Amino acid sequence: MNTIFAPITSPIRAGISIVRISGSDVKKCLQDIGFKGQIQHQKVSFQNIFDPKTGEKIDEVLISFFQSPKSFTGEDVAEISLHASPFILKKLLNIFSEMPNCRLAEAGEFSKRAFLNGKMDLVQAEAIPDLIAAETAAQHKQALRQLEGKLGEIYENWRFRLIEISAMLEAAIDFPDEDLPRNIIDKVEDSVALLRAEISQHLSDKRNGQKIREGLNLVILGAPNVGKSSLINFLAKSDVAIVSEIAGTTRDVIEVNLEIGGIPVKISDTAGIRETVDLIESEGIKRALNKAQNADIKIYLFDANNPVLETSLIDESTILVANKIDLKAAENEQNFGEKLPKSAFIEISLAKNLNMKFLLQKIEEKIAQMLPNQDIPLITQERYRNALQNSVTNLENFSLQKNIELAAEDLRITAREIGKITGKIDIDNILDVIFSRFCIGK
Ligand code: GDP
Repeated sequence: MNTIFAPITSPIRAGISIVRISGSDVKKCLQDIGFKGQIQHQKVSFQNIFDPKTGEKIDEVLISFFQSPKSFTGEDVAEISLHASPFILKKLLNIFSEMPNCRLAEAGEFSKRAFLNGKMDLVQAEAIPDLIAAETAAQHKQALRQLEGKLGEIYENWRFRLIEISAMLEAAIDFPDEDLPRNIIDKVEDSVALLRAEISQHLSDKRNGQKIREGLNLVILGAPNVGKSSLINFLAKSDVAIVSEIAGTTRDVIEVNLEIGGIPVKISDTAGIRETVDLIESEGIKRALNKAQNADIKIYLFDANNPVLETSLIDESTILVANKIDLKAAENEQNFGEKLPKSAFIEISLAKNLNMKFLLQKIEEKIAQMLPNQDIPLITQERYRNALQNSVTNLENFSLQKNIELAAEDLRITAREIGKITGKIDIDNILDVIFSRFCIGK
């Protein structure tokens, strides 16, 4: 197998850039660029490196070395910390690419080798990009837990139990003369039912793990001129949206990504909803309604002095907000008719910064309601969800009333389906389980 190398730090200018090299020729590559002394496991050494062709000095670097199998990839690995000059980096990459059996790593190839060498399962490998991309506390916690193997452990536990149950049935298939004892039938049926319930429970997560990973969608809706752009500006603490007195200025959807209460939230400001003959504006309104349909949370904003409520956009995911209370004359106190009790909405003034803390608190509460802080690992990828849904379907088809071989096959397929998630699909395990239960000498 080739020895592979690649820069593992961002190309943006910094003080140091790091090149990782992994494979059986790492020691030789290091010696070729002038490594002096012994290359030792988990030791960092200061070295001068040279162009092997010209003998010209390239840089003064720090080299960390990890001996196979105790490295990230499971192979010999070195990480060379260079001064972050584009020239030095290019030079070193060129030198390595000219060495026999050495090439630039493909995207994800270090992690792929780590998986192939049994250093981590697929679920852990998939946590690495999520951990690197984490911008909020919840994303960080979720990715780190997945990298530690907590999510993969759940899947491995299910797979192992499926293999155990199939092993019991396999034994019955191998000895057809013997009737399957009642206690085995009961045990198999109970175990399958329990597994099915556990997987279904894990699946009924309202996609919260994926929402944490991708961000919740919060959409600001309302008639033109009620203060929607002012609200997104307030939330983003920057002028991302155009604030204007002319009704209908926000024609497209404007989005900002924020962290609220540790959760990533994608906030969209939409076109004001009203009857219009303007083609562009009506396209904006169409997009706004579309956004509203896919929103996790909606803030429906209206003018406290002229409440217009689009009831079709108001449901349990909606926070109702009356803006411009600064303009509301005391003698002109409105109660918005019988249809809207005062407790149903929050009164604010974006212009005078009234009650804004309360609104933020309400948004945080709504988010916390949607994504309760729980310590159970959640599904983070559609790939896992698909495999788990297939598994539940298979387990629903499972029945000992039909042919036992078919029943065992349903379990085997299910174990394989779950094995696809973690990357462990070795059905030879079934044989291992069977034979590990045999007495010595059989
Ligand atoms: P949008 O069309 O719903 O996005 O509304 P904008 O955010 O563009 O605001 C429309 C107008 O209302 C602007 O002139 C804002 O300055 C004004 N406005 C926004 N909030 C308030 C408020 O609380 N009080 C007052 N008096 N004016 C406001």
